[in-house]
Amino acid sequence: MDASQSDRVIIFDTTLRDAEQTPGAKLSVREKMEIAHQLARLRVDVIEAGFPISSNEDFEAVRRIAHEVEGPIVCGLSRALPQDVDRAGEALKSAPKPRIHTFIGTSPQHIAMVGKPPEQVLKMAVAAVERARSFCEDVEFSPMDAARTDLAYLYEVIEAAIQAGATTVNIPDTVGYAVPEQFGGLIRNILEHVPNVGGAVLSVHCHDDLGMAVINTLAALKSGARQAECTINGLGERAGNAALEEIVMALRTRQDYFGLRTQVETRQICTTSRLVSRLMGIVVAPNKAIVGANAFAHSSGIHQDGVLKDRENFEIIDPRDVGLEKTQIVLTARSGRHALRHRLEELGYHLSKEELDKAYQRFLEIADKKKEIFDEDLAAIVSDELHEAPQKYHLEYLHTSSGTGTIPTSTIKLRIDGERVVQEAAWGDGPIDATYNAIVKAVGTPVQLEDYASRSVTRGQDAVGEVTVKLSGNGHTAIGRGASTDLIEAGARAFIDGLNRLAVQERMKKEMGPGAGV
Ligand code: MN
Repeated sequence: MDASQSDRVIIFDTTLRDAEQTPGAKLSVREKMEIAHQLARLRVDVIEAGFPISSNEDFEAVRRIAHEVEGPIVCGLSRALPQDVDRAGEALKSAPKPRIHTFIGTSPQHIAMVGKPPEQVLKMAVAAVERARSFCEDVEFSPMDAARTDLAYLYEVIEAAIQAGATTVNIPDTVGYAVPEQFGGLIRNILEHVPNVGGAVLSVHCHDDLGMAVINTLAALKSGARQAECTINGLGERAGNAALEEIVMALRTRQDYFGLRTQVETRQICTTSRLVSRLMGIVVAPNKAIVGANAFAHSSGIHQDGVLKDRENFEIIDPRDVGLEKTQIVLTARSGRHALRHRLEELGYHLSKEELDKAYQRFLEIADKKKEIFDEDLAAIVSDELHEAPQKYHLEYLHTSSGTGTIPTSTIKLRIDGERVVQEAAWGDGPIDATYNAIVKAVGTPVQLEDYASRSVTRGQDAVGEVTVKLSGNGHTAIGRGASTDLIEAGARAFIDGLNRLAVQERMKKEMGPGAGV
């Protein structure tokens, strides 16, 4: 049966590939594994886990996710070049459900960049698909920048790719240029004019440069596309990709209009959103649809009254359907290791024994300072403790003093590369400024603090505070995070985390391959 006749939409998540290309959002392999496990619980159909030839870390992430994460198809991206396809094939070798996704630019702009005539580009596409098929049955092809590609040529490329063995053909709006009616029309045209189109699933990949990624995706699905490429929280290059949670909930809430379904476990949406936000260090806007903090908050008195009387008066989605429950007091200082592990698993964290030991120590320290530990506290502690930017710099000691009529000062002790201990003191406009100045003095390399944000993770005076900083130095940008009941300590941890991430990027600069993608 022609795929476009089915009512089942395939959800292809590219958070770990497209969104990971966001400046400063680089994830460690360990962090990617956490997100991939959570995407499996969310029941996405396909996880695009990375771009294996781009770096050894990406290769390793794709390889491990493909082997260890059960459920979804795991996909690796490659340009339409033999060495790229081979590297993706190698990363996915012997994986239970592998997919290779190969792409080449087909718009006049992108063909000019490749520097080859259109016939040659088509040949490269065919050769890449054939080569990918020699590694696995499941092969996706993307004519990059399809939305700006000459139609007759686009049909020709799609037909050739399907003939060569592509089982999914993705139509990317790489630069976010499409508008809904036109993009839907493009999908209908492809379905009408490409003779063998029934042999593959038609997919779309939309960017949000004009704020239309989700609506373009929905227009394409309405017109017969059956795979949506999207990311959690709509993260992605530049203005981002189409938001998974918005597509899924629009299809579900307006089933009457779209007549389409996904297999996504929607009650995992909020957990996934928070995990991705925390690990990538990118805060979700409060007014963001579905997952923003205010998405289900009713401030007007009339609305509050209406919601109390009948939820459906003012809410088209039951918050419980996206996994939004009232925050519960879950643990106290008397809770055991087992209770901690159980709750963490419910929050999406799967820890090894050593990691659990570390997290439990940290939990006890926090539980000592505050009586009730909320889910958000736990998530902050665990992600702060466990992300593994290799620790070039480690905080050994911190003392600050400040007050009215005194000059805020800070003394810090850092261990560098596990050996050298450096101690410095500095003053500043406030205790956090003083602490940063002391750290910069100790580290001895120029680094700019681009952005600083702190928030209280839970309510109450003893809440855990979380600090996120954006640092830049030597052409790199990194986001650092730290959490503590002491906001100054959280700030110091965030700053040192950012420095460790900058150090990783500096080290990886030498081994970096191509950075961009579809
Ligand atoms: Mn993209």
